[in-house]
Amino acid sequence: MLKYVDTRVVFAEIPDEITLAINISNCPCHCRGCHSSYLAEDIGTILDKDILINLIRENRGITCIAFMGGDSNPEEINDLAFCIRVLSEYQYKVAWYSGRQELSKEIDLKNFDYIKLGPYIEEWGPLDNPTTNQRLYEVCRISKLPDKFIMKDITSKFWK
Ligand code: SF4
Repeated sequence: MLKYVDTRVVFAEIPDEITLAINISNCPCHCRGCHSSYLAEDIGTILDKDILINLIRENRGITCIAFMGGDSNPEEINDLAFCIRVLSEYQYKVAWYSGRQELSKEIDLKNFDYIKLGPYIEEWGPLDNPTTNQRLYEVCRISKLPDKFIMKDITSKFWK
């Protein structure tokens, strides 16, 4: 079961979006130099569909919901993303910040608009450093192929 520690409305994590960032605990990635090492602990409040809907209702004006973490249970992240799609009828963009190098097989791209991949590596820096190893992808539908998607690297948007 996923748990979250807190939420913030942020403007930089997803370019051109007003994002409700949900900070999820129990992170299994253990990146050296992690900016939020407390997120490795199994702490916080259970994040289920009802709680998620309440969080969205409490934050009017947002355009995007981002799951910050959740690598302990990508299947549940995928389910919650699907829930946002269905209940909001595509009103909100959906994003996931994963600390893994590769995208989990539990993730169905059709439920997401943005996916960030890559662990934090101190020497290479975060997304806004041009030397970063991390990547932010926009999930794009291939026209005429309704169930086919590509991940377009938009990391350079952080460097302008
Ligand atoms: S994925 Fe993020 S929260 Fe998890 S250890 Fe790495 S930097 Fe910290």
